[in-house]
Amino acid sequence: MELLKRRIREDGTVRGTDVLKVDSFLNHQMDVALFEEIGGEFLRRFDGCGVNKILTIEASGIGIACVTAQFFHCPVVFAKKSQTKNIAGEVYTTKVESFTHGRVYDVIVSKRFLGPEDCVLIIDDFLANGAALEGLIDLVNQAGARLAGAGIVIEKAFQPGGDRLRAKGVRVESLARVKSMSEENGVEFVE
Ligand code: 5GP
Repeated sequence: MELLKRRIREDGTVRGTDVLKVDSFLNHQMDVALFEEIGGEFLRRFDGCGVNKILTIEASGIGIACVTAQFFHCPVVFAKKSQTKNIAGEVYTTKVESFTHGRVYDVIVSKRFLGPEDCVLIIDDFLANGAALEGLIDLVNQAGARLAGAGIVIEKAFQPGGDRLRAKGVRVESLARVKSMSEENGVEFVE
């Protein structure tokens, strides 16, 4: 998606070797007009797949997921990072290791909001090592729901998550795939 790549080149900054900061338009301050273009692109890619629910993880996926859901006319469920012990049986639960904070979270979704009748599109801002996406897929599987695929805004293709999940048969659609990046030379995209 050229508009997104241009924005990343103009406003993204690289920290160290593997962190891309896009907080001026994607995951702190949010450019909602850009989100609309992103949501429309996800619809073009997943139209006709029968998506009736969008699943994301708090916090930075929520805004993009909500704007995307307006194109699919369906609700958004976000997996919550849980601090408290939940009563067994009420929630699906899985563990996710955070790329940015390096710690492991329990994440939960209420069984009331995900079930075998659902066809789920997972949306997230970044794909790096794939832990967040694998956790969300685990929740979809626990619910007995169908997975249409994952829509990712920025995939760091030099990290292993995307390839590993595609090899497992998951349909991963990333709108910008970063081939390499450095503080000196900025970001280079795949194709
Ligand atoms: P993964 O679980 O695939 O390793 O990482 C995905 C999650 O980590 C995303 O939900 C995102 O919040 C965060 N993340 C991973 N890489 C980056 C990055 O380069 N920049 C920012 N801002 N967040 C990232």
